Amino acid sequence: MRILVLNSGSSSLKYKLFDTKRGVALLSGHVDAIGLPRCNVTFTAGANKQTTTCAVKDHLAAVKLALQSLLDFTVIARLADIDAVGHRVVHGGEYYTGPTRVTKRVLATIKRLAEFAPLHNPPEIAGIKACMRALPSVPQVIVCDTAFHQTIPDHAFLYGIPYGLYKKYRIRKYGFHGTSHKYVAREAARMLGKEKSHEIITCHLGNGSSICAVKDGRSVDTSMGFSPLDGLIMGTRSGELDPEVVLYLIKKKHMDPDELSGYLNKQSGLKGISNLSSDVRDLKEAAAKGNAHARLALDMLAYRIAQYVGSYMTIMHGLDAIVFTAGIGENEPDIRRKVCGYLAFAGLTLDPAKNRRNERVITRPGSRIKALVIPTNEELEIAKETEGLLRERRQGRKKR
Ligand code: ADP
Repeated sequence: MRILVLNSGSSSLKYKLFDTKRGVALLSGHVDAIGLPRCNVTFTAGANKQTTTCAVKDHLAAVKLALQSLLDFTVIARLADIDAVGHRVVHGGEYYTGPTRVTKRVLATIKRLAEFAPLHNPPEIAGIKACMRALPSVPQVIVCDTAFHQTIPDHAFLYGIPYGLYKKYRIRKYGFHGTSHKYVAREAARMLGKEKSHEIITCHLGNGSSICAVKDGRSVDTSMGFSPLDGLIMGTRSGELDPEVVLYLIKKKHMDPDELSGYLNKQSGLKGISNLSSDVRDLKEAAAKGNAHARLALDMLAYRIAQYVGSYMTIMHGLDAIVFTAGIGENEPDIRRKVCGYLAFAGLTLDPAKNRRNERVITRPGSRIKALVIPTNEELEIAKETEGLLRERRQGRKKR
C-alpha cells in the first residue's frame, strides 16, 4: 500500500510517503515556518534532494504542496494512488488504544483533548482537516503517542491525589512517545527471538526523553506522565520534580502558570543545569574541556535513566534487554556506557568497542541482560498501523 504519514506541528509539516510492502519511504518532506513569508521546504526522494523557499499560508497550503511534491517526483502517478493518510496525534487521552479512522466525532474528541496538549493537538487537527479537503475520498487515520500506554494499570497511572480529581478531570499519567517505544520494543523482541514473552525497557532519548517498561508487548509503565514534562531530565525540560518546588516558585518568584511553564519546559533540564546548551554534543565537548556544569548535566541524565531502569526491572520481575533509541540513544556511547555501568551488578556486560561503534547489540555474548541500539522509526510504525487498520476493515467487510 501507499500510505502518506503526516506529522503536523504549529508551524511545520513533516511527511513521508511509504511503500508499506517494502517498508521504505519513497519521499519525505519538511515544510517549515508555515504562515511566515519565507518558508523553507525540503523534499528528499532517494538521492534526490531539493530545497526551496516560498510562502506557505497555512496547513492546507502545506498539504497541497506536499501532495504536489509526490506528483512532481513521480513517486505516484495520481493522488488516487494514495491508499490512506496516517496522522501522528500526540494526545489521544483515554479514548484511543490503537489506530483509529477519523470521523467527525474523532475530530471533536481530539479538539477537546487540546486542553491537555495545547501546542500539539490544534496543529494536528489543522493537518487532518487539510488532508480531508485535499483528499476527500482517501481514508484518514490517527495514531496517538498516548495509545501504547493505555495498557498501564491503574495502580501505576494514578497519582496520589484525591481520586475525584481523576474522575472529574482525568488527571493521570498518560505517557508519550508510545509509537516509538512500541516500534523499538517489537524490533528488540524479534532480535531476542522472544516475540511473545519478554521484559524490555526502551529508552527514547532525544530532546524530549522517556523510558518505557514493556512486558510481553504491552506498556506497563512509562516515565512521562500527565504531560511530557515528567520523568527524565531532558534537553530543556526539568523532568520529575517535587511538586512543592512549583508551589515555592509561585510564591517566591511570583510566576504565573505560563511563565512557570516556560521556565520548566524551556529553561530547565540539561540547559538549565549546564547554563550552556540543551544539546548533548555541546555538553560533551564542554565537559571534555573541564566544564563542571556540563559534566554534572550529563551525570544527572545517566543517573535518572538508571533510576528508572532499576525501578522498571523490579515491577516487571526481570529484564531481558534495555534498548537505546532516538538522537542520544542512537549516537551517544558515553551516556549508554554510564547507564550500562549501573547495571553491571545485575548481569549486563557491555562490550565497549561495539558500544563505541553504535552497533545493534552492544553487550558481550554471555551478558545476562542485553543492551541494544535500535533506530526508531515512528513514521513507519504509523504507516504500518494505518495499513493494518485498513486491512482489518476490508476483511471485516468481506466476511459480512
Ligand atoms: P527530538 O526529540 O527533537 O526528535 P532527537 O531525537 O533528534 O530529538 O535528539 C536530539 C539529541 O540527540 C540532542 O541532545 C543531540 O545532542 C543528540 N545527538 C547526539 N548525537 C547526535 C547525532 N549524531 N545526531 C543527532 N542527534 C544527536
